[in-house]
Amino acid sequence: MALDDCIFCKIAAGQIPSRKVYEDDTVLAFEDVNPQAKVHVLVVPKTHYTDILDISRRGIDDLGAMMRGVGEVVRAKGLEKNGFRLVNNCGSDGCQSVKHVHIHVLGGEQLSEKMS
Ligand code: 5GP
Ligand code: ZN
Repeated sequence: MALDDCIFCKIAAGQIPSRKVYEDDTVLAFEDVNPQAKVHVLVVPKTHYTDILDISRRGIDDLGAMMRGVGEVVRAKGLEKNGFRLVNNCGSDGCQSVKHVHIHVLGGEQLSEKMS
């Protein structure tokens, strides 16, 4: 189900434009509007879940579909050879700014060793 005031629900429904990288029935992947690396793609489920805890409790199949989407993004962006980083920010300590679960796929260059 989509939330009226959720920006990623609107992007997933095509109501707000995005630069699509991959799409299937369950998942959309699109370029981050403010990229933090040469490749920075967001993978979101089309169904609204607040965060990684919510989807792990109520939507384990959709979480699996997100990981399938990650694989599709990695192949589409040619990241298999040199690798990449997945990030999920959760809650206030994790600095999650959009309350619709998403996985960041970062790569295309050497990333920082620092993760925090
Ligand atoms: P968070 O901080 O919640 O982990 O990540 C949210 C991400 O969504 C940020 O990297 C931000 O740049 C991205 N973002 C926020 N609004 C939009 C938008 O309207 N379109 C796109 N493509 N990315 C967005
Ligand atoms: Zn949403």
